[in-house]
Amino acid sequence: MARTPYVEKDECTSCVQCVDNLPEVFRMDDDDLAEVHNPTGADEDAIQEEMDTCPGECIHWK
Ligand code: SF4
Repeated sequence: MARTPYVEKDECTSCVQCVDNLPEVFRMDDDDLAEVHNPTGADEDAIQEEMDTCPGECIHWK
C-alpha cells in the first residue's frame, strides 16, 4: 500500500515551495498553510524530494 503524505500545518512557513513544485499534490488552504489535496498525485520519490527540501520540515508520511 502506498504511503500517504501530510503537512504538519503548525510548522508550515507558507513558503509555497511544495505547491509550486507539486500542485498535483499540495495546495494552500484558506489560512495560507499547505495541505495535501491528492496524496497520490505524484510518485513517492517526488513527494520525498519535497519533504527533504521543505523549509519547515513539516511534510511527513503517515
Ligand atoms: S514547502 Fe513546507 S513550509 Fe513551504 S508551504 Fe510547503 S509545507 Fe509549508
